[in-house]
Amino acid sequence: MLIAQPKIVLKLDDIGVANHLCKAGQVMDYLLQKSIKASYGLIANRLDETAFSTLSKYINATNSRDERMVELWHHGFDHSNNNLSNNNKEFSGTSYGFQKKHFNDANQLIIKKLGVQMHTFGAPYNAADSVTLKVISENSNYKLIFFPSLDVGKHLKITSLNNRVDMEKGVGNPNYEYFVSNYEKNVVYQQSFMIIQGHPNNWTIEQFNEFTKTIDFLVLKGCEFVLPFELVK
Ligand SMILES: [Zn+2]
Repeated sequence: MLIAQPKIVLKLDDIGVANHLCKAGQVMDYLLQKSIKASYGLIANRLDETAFSTLSKYINATNSRDERMVELWHHGFDHSNNNLSNNNKEFSGTSYGFQKKHFNDANQLIIKKLGVQMHTFGAPYNAADSVTLKVISENSNYKLIFFPSLDVGKHLKITSLNNRVDMEKGVGNPNYEYFVSNYEKNVVYQQSFMIIQGHPNNWTIEQFNEFTKTIDFLVLKGCEFVLPFELVK
């Protein structure tokens, strides 16, 4: 009997570029070399004027079927967590005006710096509220949100991506054994898709090896790696 394997979305967070350096570059290169699709969350104000020349090889990469290998998604303007009036995170508990400005400024900055219109949003700290959903729904380019902690409900044009299967045992700490046990536990997603979150900026060599073992496991299983936007096409 043929057992279905889930589609895999790699959700890799906190991408920035400074002075031609993208800290996640080694991981991004590895995935491209393996011909594995991945999505990257950009923090808009952490991209300097060298961002396009640094990221263009990922932005333009395609596979033998002429499909894009990389999706860049909206991960906030500044990823702040010290906003009025209660150390609010950028998209949780802050005002409509604040969120609208941060959302639009980031969207525009990415268009200007990278020439990319994003379609997916993932809040910093995965902290979004009902105001965020309103703001996202006001820009018809956006179709998906990662891990909303609330029911998207009436914002029906936005698809929630909630099938979270953790690889990192604590933020920034990939662990192969931990992932495999989570994979086996989440049989319920095996007919559909799984979202795997990672923070590749500061992985050590050992942590990078845990990640590559995870990728090898999924490849052996016969999983297909897809981009978030492909789930709604
Ligand atoms: Zn983040």
